[in-house]
Amino acid sequence: MIFTQFVDDALGCASYLVGDENAGIAAVVDPALAIEQYLEEAERRGVRLVRVVETHTHADHVSGHGRLALEHGLPVSVHPLAGAEYPHDAMEDGDEIALGEVVLRCIHTPGHRPEHCCVAVVDRSRGPEPWLVLTGDSLFVGDAARPDLAVEAREGAEGLFHSLRRLVELGDGVEVYPGHVAGSLCGKAMSSKAMRLKCRCHGLRARNSAAQKPTQGPNRARPRRNIAATVPVPNSAAVRRTLNSLSPSSLTGTMAA
Ligand SMILES: [Zn+2]
Ligand SMILES: [Zn+2]
Repeated sequence: MIFTQFVDDALGCASYLVGDENAGIAAVVDPALAIEQYLEEAERRGVRLVRVVETHTHADHVSGHGRLALEHGLPVSVHPLAGAEYPHDAMEDGDEIALGEVVLRCIHTPGHRPEHCCVAVVDRSRGPEPWLVLTGDSLFVGDAARPDLAVEAREGAEGLFHSLRRLVELGDGVEVYPGHVAGSLCGKAMSSKAMRLKCRCHGLRARNSAAQKPTQGPNRARPRRNIAATVPVPNSAAVRRTLNSLSPSSLTGTMAA
């Protein structure tokens, strides 16, 4: 199995290349606009890129899915609730994308965005259970996602509460690889400690207070104080989200204009 993390230090965004070297194929999850890094890594590892997976429509960076689709003919998978105007394959809860022996399993995890999905990565040559999960903008290392960017904060927090419970069900041995590290506005207290591939986060609960076993009761879905209340929504976020949901051809037109 091939697994490479890419970090944009300026934006605090992380993206991933996952594939099967024996099958010679790989996918890119949450690509940045600078797609050359994925093409170079794929060539270096001797695999062909065959798919793009978006965990959600991003508001903090312009996605590279349009370039990968237009320039390299890659299909894009995203959850239907994204309302994507670009050609895409619907990716819903439980759906699996096979890359040889490596399987990307969709876990719908709304909260940060209604369409948000995590991607559990299974290496069938090692076993049937996922050994890592790409958590996008749901669970970071040291923090949970902001639930107040796309929907009303309480509604988002309720969604996130249930989504985090599903991630906890994956078990303590599953490694967490988020869509952001310190420096992003998509969370507040996230750590940069586990941003590097070599830094293993042993379990969702161990280092992440946001994923502690949730308490029951009337306050259980209350937005965490440090998520919603203190960091303003970036003004340019809506513009980027719009760009990221348009078709690549209209995006090209927009950027040329
Ligand atoms: Zn996001
Ligand atoms: Zn983000």
